[in-house]
Amino acid sequence: MNRADLHRLTTLLACPTAPFREDAVAAVISAWLTRAKVPFFRDPAGNLVVGVGSRAEYLRLIRQRHREPVRLFIAHMDHPGFHGRRWLSNNRLEIEWHGGSPVKKLAGAPVWLARGDCYVSQGRLANIRLGATRHALHRAEIVIEKSNWPERPAAETLFGAFRFRAPVWRAGKRLNTKAADDLVGVFAVVHTAVKHFAEKRRTPFLGLLTRAEEVGFVGAINHFEFDWLNTARRPVVCVSLETSRALPGAHIGKGPVVRLGDRRTVFDPGALHVLTELAQRTLPGKHQRRIMDGGTCEATAATAWGYPAIGLSVPLGNYHNIDDNTGAPAPEYVRIDDVEGMLRLCRALMTPELAWSDPWKQQRRRLLKNRRRYRKLLQP
Ligand SMILES: [Zn+2]
Repeated sequence: MNRADLHRLTTLLACPTAPFREDAVAAVISAWLTRAKVPFFRDPAGNLVVGVGSRAEYLRLIRQRHREPVRLFIAHMDHPGFHGRRWLSNNRLEIEWHGGSPVKKLAGAPVWLARGDCYVSQGRLANIRLGATRHALHRAEIVIEKSNWPERPAAETLFGAFRFRAPVWRAGKRLNTKAADDLVGVFAVVHTAVKHFAEKRRTPFLGLLTRAEEVGFVGAINHFEFDWLNTARRPVVCVSLETSRALPGAHIGKGPVVRLGDRRTVFDPGALHVLTELAQRTLPGKHQRRIMDGGTCEATAATAWGYPAIGLSVPLGNYHNIDDNTGAPAPEYVRIDDVEGMLRLCRALMTPELAWSDPWKQQRRRLLKNRRRYRKLLQP
């Protein structure tokens, strides 16, 4: 990855974010897209739609009668975190957690707090209460340690998550950060858009950068419910880009993963076959392929709404800030070369005239040839 791209990626990873509090990420992305002259707009739910400048342009693109499917790349701008609820005293804030979290060694864990798109304070967790299933935090208190506000802000305007030695830092090929999930996916969508528009390629591209994925795909579901996509007169293929918990067969450093499914469902077999063959050509021996059932992703939401979906994942260490070994709060991490692999596959997906309309043609041909070979043995 060149220095400029690495700088863009780390700038994004440094942004504060939490479910429903994606302003900082959206601001950085908007600036990048504006500089690159890529059109974008915010849909009524606040998701960032990339590649078209308005709802009208969006509808025009998907209503063209054409065989070439629109690639709809989806990634989410949020990461698990908390919202302020109320001040309990001058330096104690009651919070509510949204999304997954570690459940061990939480007392005294350091957190950052932000407001709008700025970090404003630091503190530590106290008085922890887990949710009913005990899989994640529900409520807690933050003891404020350091702040740079002239006047204490309203509790509900504050949000935050776990704090480590920096929002992002590099160690060789490894990027450690407070949140790789799914800012790496967001980076890949925007990177693909910028390259695509710079090269003036004609294949139809859309990016959907969603809000509040971590609490049940809320941004994506809102988008699917607008009755925009279901008016398409051409095929649409949803491509979910994620950072997903490393699993046996999906190792950090061995390349991006062609995601066959998630914890809820398998994805579209025809479109997956196109992606599989593309990955074999683009990254031979340098990609992986499996069902990433460590979590669910927006491809499941797309599937549930009737759109063919596939996925790509960058394997992730310390998923949702849960240390892979101890379960304590820990920074997430990814390998830079895995991210590069994902970028290459995203660009390859924009190749015109891939076999979307008849993905199994080659396979049928091979099987028919094989049938011919055994014709004699088949004689009764
Ligand atoms: Zn995610």
